[in-house]
Amino acid sequence: MTDGPPGDDRVVVALDVGGTGMKCALVRPDGSVLHAERHPTDAGRGPDAVVATVLAVAEGLADRARAAGSTPVACGVAVPGVVDETAGVAVWSANVGFRDVPLRDLVGARLGLPAALGHDVRVGGIAEARLGAGRDARHVLFVAIGTGIAAAHVVAGSAAVGAHGAAGEIGHILVRPDGPRCGCGRPGCLEAVSSASAVARRYAELAGSTASAAEVAGRAAAGEELAGRVWREAVEALADGLATGQALYDVDTMVIGGGLARAGGQLLDPLRAALRERMTFHREPRLVAAALGDEAGCLGAALLALDSLERR
Ligand SMILES: [Zn+2]
Repeated sequence: MTDGPPGDDRVVVALDVGGTGMKCALVRPDGSVLHAERHPTDAGRGPDAVVATVLAVAEGLADRARAAGSTPVACGVAVPGVVDETAGVAVWSANVGFRDVPLRDLVGARLGLPAALGHDVRVGGIAEARLGAGRDARHVLFVAIGTGIAAAHVVAGSAAVGAHGAAGEIGHILVRPDGPRCGCGRPGCLEAVSSASAVARRYAELAGSTASAAEVAGRAAAGEELAGRVWREAVEALADGLATGQALYDVDTMVIGGGLARAGGQLLDPLRAALRERMTFHREPRLVAAALGDEAGCLGAALLALDSLERR
């Protein structure tokens, strides 16, 4: 991130494309938001239609910036799934349907601006590490817990991408060898036990009635024994996963985001205690709730675009 000269009128066009919605913004170099808007993704229309919407929305934002007297200088796009950030290609995504879409170059050509493409959780981690709950730390692990579980290891503001664009898949750490089967096909992955959808599934299995993960958390807090058991199982497995994360990365701060993190202290307090029990010679990381909510991906896409300008 660069602080421009006084009167800096530069903005970045940023889009976070999810399975159901797109969060879009014009972001200044200091990370402040000039304008924000949201659009439905409507992924059921197919990937070509989604790409057409992404390009139209990005162009509309660039036009809006110029009309407001600002200068759009780059565009950043975040997408879920497997992302080749070097090539700028959305390789694969289950919920948006992308298959080898060269999204960076498509956006760059349409806008006539430099563009960057990133993974939604990785750029969300960059935003939390630089602007959010991890801003005082140099080594941050951002863990997003929603329908799945994924992480970003951010050091000095940059996230490791991996050799194949798949770094940070902490949801597929094996925590319960005899546990439920994961969406990836293997039994006992962390996200098959501790994701919001896994908590809801486990509760339904034991209680015979349905409840969301948030409802399970609420019932556990109210003293319902079964909900308490399900919540405890999820927290214990999560602590196993985070302990592995700490053994690998030795971070100062773990930032917990995603839908499950809305349980606040009801998640973080027992999780902190369970993680502490698992630390031997490793230093215990500071465990905090994410600060940017669902805007992290969009802000992170903007930061990625600004970073790419600096490298040019
Ligand atoms: Zn898995």
